[in-house]
Amino acid sequence: QSVINKIAAGEVIERPASVVKELVENSLDAGATRIDVSVAKGGIEFIRVADNGCGIAFEDLELAVASHATSKISDAEGLFHVRTLGFRGEALASIAEVSHLRLRSRTPDSDSGGEIYVEGGLVRSIAPCGCPVGTVVEVRQLFFNTPVRRKFLRSTTTELGHISETVAKLALAHFRVHFTLTHNDRPVLQLPAAGDLLERIAALYGQELADALIPVSSEDGAVRLYGYVAHPAFSRPNAKMQFLFLNGRAIRDRNLQHALNEAYRGLLTVGRQPVAFLVLEMPPEMVDVNVHPTKQEVRFLDSGRLYSQLLSTLRREFLSSDL
Ligand code: ADP
Ligand code: MG
Repeated sequence: QSVINKIAAGEVIERPASVVKELVENSLDAGATRIDVSVAKGGIEFIRVADNGCGIAFEDLELAVASHATSKISDAEGLFHVRTLGFRGEALASIAEVSHLRLRSRTPDSDSGGEIYVEGGLVRSIAPCGCPVGTVVEVRQLFFNTPVRRKFLRSTTTELGHISETVAKLALAHFRVHFTLTHNDRPVLQLPAAGDLLERIAALYGQELADALIPVSSEDGAVRLYGYVAHPAFSRPNAKMQFLFLNGRAIRDRNLQHALNEAYRGLLTVGRQPVAFLVLEMPPEMVDVNVHPTKQEVRFLDSGRLYSQLLSTLRREFLSSDL
């Protein structure tokens, strides 16, 4: 059982950035308006995510770190209407399986909070404690009991890079939330609540880029597409600055990537990649997010139609802007 748990954990938790992603997604699902992420040594040594969300009731603490326990979906039917970022009830259990995890939480209607401490999947203690409303999760000694996984971790700089990319993506998808990221007590990202996506882009990547972005938007039935694409002069040697968000989560989709490149065809020098921040909103029934545990890939009900929408929208915006 324990081996199976560790294998399952490895599928979801690949590196410190995966921990950060899962914890921040939980904070967002909890309705937090402020999320503070703090890591040490690229997250290998220490990760803390603190939020001001709805908290976890004392009697639910143990359940929260148990495998396949989710408060977000109660039946199979629910899987087709996922509106939260999490729904498998695996993340906390998986992280706790391969680390020392301390979770402190308090709900708004409770006078005091509770703390649970789990070591390699074993609950060591549960006790009341004083803490503000919200949740703080601290993860130490990641992969202490899975030496192979630990060995494959890269340098502090590389792991921190993954973490800050992860936080940036979540912060773009949820620009109204106040985010901070600190590494070894030094601030890396400071992102006060933004009024719109463009403001968040400016805070992350600079006003110069934000000023040069071309807004795009269109609607096709229940599908809403909006966001920004950059002038070809801002193209990059890689695709790292291509963001696609679907209903609040960052996704990868080859088909849509192809539509983006198609729209820029003839405008970019060879080897350059467009910069784009695209947001898709559609009813959850129109997409299957239950494809892979890390949920980066999704399956659209009608991907052909989506491809056409993206391509025609981008082409129209390019024609109307003076490139
Ligand atoms: P999932 O997000 O798929 O439900 P998780 O393992 O990530 O599964 O979390 C398990 C449960 O713990 C959640 O369903 C939620 O009820 C609770 N939980 C976890 N993190 C938080 C948080 N930051 N604030 C409030 N509740 C949380
Ligand atoms: Mg979750």
